[in-house]
Amino acid sequence: MASTVMVLALAALAGCSFQDREKVWEIAGPVFGTAYHIKVVLPDDPQRLENLSSGIEKTLEQVDASMSTWREDSELSSFNRQDDQSDWVPVSRNLYRVLERSLEISEMTGGAFDITVGPLVNLWGFGPDGRPQDTPPDEKLEEVLTRTGYQNLSLRENPPAVKAEPVQYLDLSAIAKGFGVDQVAEYLENEGVSAYLVEIGGEIRVNGRKPDDTAWRLAVEQPTAEGRQVNRIVALHKAAMATSGDYRNYYESQGQRYSHTIDPVTGKPITHSLASVSVITDDCMTADALATAFNVMGFERANALAVKENLAVYFIVRRGDGFETHATPAFLSYIVD
Ligand code: ADP
Ligand code: MG
Repeated sequence: MASTVMVLALAALAGCSFQDREKVWEIAGPVFGTAYHIKVVLPDDPQRLENLSSGIEKTLEQVDASMSTWREDSELSSFNRQDDQSDWVPVSRNLYRVLERSLEISEMTGGAFDITVGPLVNLWGFGPDGRPQDTPPDEKLEEVLTRTGYQNLSLRENPPAVKAEPVQYLDLSAIAKGFGVDQVAEYLENEGVSAYLVEIGGEIRVNGRKPDDTAWRLAVEQPTAEGRQVNRIVALHKAAMATSGDYRNYYESQGQRYSHTIDPVTGKPITHSLASVSVITDDCMTADALATAFNVMGFERANALAVKENLAVYFIVRRGDGFETHATPAFLSYIVD
């Protein structure tokens, strides 16, 4: 968790010395094995920024303590350790909300998004245990596939609880960052901050406008490991955007590229030519999970579903040495550059 938090003014308004004029302040720190960058539009008030910083840290710590598979003491890890999950296991309201949305997105995407892929994620070396010596044998994958699947999970809303049969190992890494963003957004709104940009590891949610009354501008990156070049710019003032790509979290072994996104049907890392998917929705948890799901589905299937559901999605597909891009009709209105 974050132990140090930086607070710094990003942009002092030119030609303005009034103390109560609003500026963009940045609050940043490490979280979930990545980093958060938060911008808030506020008048100059160091004490208030201090308080917001520690409130943000606490908010994120709560999400981490609940949903991380990288922490043995998390709520999720204690569920995952149970050798019998066939009776209702009480969970926090937040964990329930994320599990519920996970199952909805599994249904919507025909199982492309599936939080029961945990054992497969670990077999391929993207879990807490690190890289395997060899790629897992097909028999092992098939054996794991026979006992995983989101259909094995049941949820109860009141009081919130989950059960599974057979035993499952759940992995919320593809949705928890987005949920963390939503929690920080909710916290800021409760604190009376109405203009902000919250980003965790590339998943973003914004509200309101910048001090110069313009919308927040977000970049969709070019999907290359080296650079941070921009492919497109979108302008948002009340929405979330998440991006899923094969270009950042992967490893190469014997000339093969292994993505950390697993196709729950084959049990193997995805290999198709879709390089990056960006999804814009109201809340970041949904955008985060859908981006991962669409990445699993590949361009043709994902685009068909996105158009049918009227979702705002932007695809970058590898073609030879270059890229081709495609925006769904709902995405077009956000593009400014
Ligand atoms: P990306 O932004 O590339 O989608 P995320 O961090 O959102 O990356 O999600 C990737 C992580 O989600 C993986 O490291 C793994 O833990 C988990 N995961 C992999 N495949 C799936 C899947 N099909 N459904 C749900 N979670 C998955
Ligand atoms: Mg995701």
